[in-house]
Amino acid sequence: MSETLSPYLSILDYYDGHLRRHGDTAAGAAWPNDQDRARRFEVMMGLFREPADTSQPLVICDLACGTGEFLRHLRDHRGGDIRYIGADLSALALSHARRKFPDAEWVEIDVLKATDEQLESLRCDYLVANGLFTVRHDLSREAMWSFLTSTLDRLWPLVRRGLAFNVMSSIVDWQRDDLFHCSYDEIAGYLHQLAGRHLQIRADYGLYEFTAYAYKTLPGSHKLASPHPAPPSVIPAFRPQLPMADAILPYLRQIDQNRWYSNQGPLVMTLQRRLTEAMQLKSGAAAVTSSGTSALVGGILACAGRAHPDRPYALCPSYTFVGTISALEHCGYIPYLVDIDEQSMLLEASALPEHPMLSQVGLVMPVATYGKPVAVAPWQDFKRSCDIPVVIDGAAAFEAMIDDSARYCGNIPVALSFHATKIFGCGEGGCLVTTDIEITAKAVQALNFGFLATRECQMANTNGKISEYHAAVALAELDAWRAKRAAFIEVADCYRQAFQRVGLDSSFVGSPVIASNYVLYRTVDHDQTLHMQRELLARKIESRLWYGLGVHHQPYYRAAARDELPVSEDLAPRLLGLPVAADLPASAIDRIVDVIKSCVGA
Ligand SMILES: *Cc1c(COP(=O)(O)O)cnc(C)c1O
Repeated sequence: MSETLSPYLSILDYYDGHLRRHGDTAAGAAWPNDQDRARRFEVMMGLFREPADTSQPLVICDLACGTGEFLRHLRDHRGGDIRYIGADLSALALSHARRKFPDAEWVEIDVLKATDEQLESLRCDYLVANGLFTVRHDLSREAMWSFLTSTLDRLWPLVRRGLAFNVMSSIVDWQRDDLFHCSYDEIAGYLHQLAGRHLQIRADYGLYEFTAYAYKTLPGSHKLASPHPAPPSVIPAFRPQLPMADAILPYLRQIDQNRWYSNQGPLVMTLQRRLTEAMQLKSGAAAVTSSGTSALVGGILACAGRAHPDRPYALCPSYTFVGTISALEHCGYIPYLVDIDEQSMLLEASALPEHPMLSQVGLVMPVATYGKPVAVAPWQDFKRSCDIPVVIDGAAAFEAMIDDSARYCGNIPVALSFHATKIFGCGEGGCLVTTDIEITAKAVQALNFGFLATRECQMANTNGKISEYHAAVALAELDAWRAKRAAFIEVADCYRQAFQRVGLDSSFVGSPVIASNYVLYRTVDHDQTLHMQRELLARKIESRLWYGLGVHHQPYYRAAARDELPVSEDLAPRLLGLPVAADLPASAIDRIVDVIKSCVGA
């Protein structure tokens, strides 16, 4: 390298000149605009092979960091644990960087002149040089090539995993004399000497340049080198899996095109249409919502409105998820908790006509316990004869609605939940379903601030709308839902067979009686449940009483008005939820059933 003069110092002057003229902006860094700069940052981040939530912090050296905007981009777009080292020759640029990010490491360094010891401060997992080799200003091509190769030759030994840099492409309509245009072959030939066959060249991001990645190892091999052993594997009570990013992407692109993000957007409309078709219902029968709970609220406000002082109570079973009661309270009702039937595990319509509270009841909410569907006909009769509105909490009963909507859907609304733990999920979401399309229309209005067509609020309301983004996930979920459901049913069948082998199948409760996202084991009493949970946990197997001991045992609802609840008291502590996941292996199921067998002494 040249001892007398460092020709690349003229490049430094070039950049400092831009920074003085334009300040700390994209133009100040000699980029045409912010968008192109952000795109280059994204491509630089493409170098990292580790997911953002990797347990080990990554050390990233940003060579020619300028004013440190890549650090901002990293923090905004990657997160995770990162140690960032910004290195530059320009004291001016670094003064901006330090002011903005005083907590990061900033190193003023001339890589070609620094001692080996000084260079140590740049030791890192990944090194990126974004824009260092794109402008040659008044340097010759040869001098620029020598600058590139001697810089990377010096740094490569300090890089543990890989490096990335960009140059201008030679495959362009015209080349600029002040830019450094290279061919793929030139760069690949040089990097091959450094990194062997662990190279990647990217020219897929729409700019007149390309980016080269050079790695020290093959993809994936860094995992073997990890000094940390894999975390102990726990089998969780439920391990959801929603559509992968690639499956959602086409829908996200539609959102980009539409520029419509909520308020009954095109994806929500498509989702509603596809859901009603899947349930073999007529158009308008389904209204998707921001959650199962908001679907309940929409159903209540549409059918019964807020609680009336004459009839302030809402009847519902205590053996349910808190969301049921939460929806009632949001609409002003005082919950009144009733028991379930021992055989069906459901609140039966036949149990209510003689109920002493009935004259003060403004709403009844039966629940599809663990997705065990509620037949609609008896409740339609109840509603007609007692003149009390009914809304069904069918949160987990999506499968039943798909399989037999004639039996489970009628002119009283049923709320479904699309929460990630349900069989059909989109993160957070829900749906109200009824053959009475005036009710769905009214629920949509109630969940959109009471607006219908105009911005005039006409009824009791809240915001329960689902966004286009959640609809995108739900559409992708619907695309692949049959396979997902089949996998869950297989898990339930596998449990059933394992319990049969040890003679405990009479205590198994699973699909098709209840939804296939639940597998329950009925113990003899609470003590056995607790013993079983402890024994399972000792083997890193989680289990769960999904509805706790009933809502009336929740601190907030302890004083709730209620009947005696002998069936709930008996059943709640005995229905133990066992681990479920679409990809739960048969070997895990056998292990789980073995533990249960040892607990019951079978
Ligand atoms: C899941 C569930 C809810 C709540 O649904 P969200 O989508 O989480 O609001 C309500 N009731 C029952 C019975 C549920 O299982």
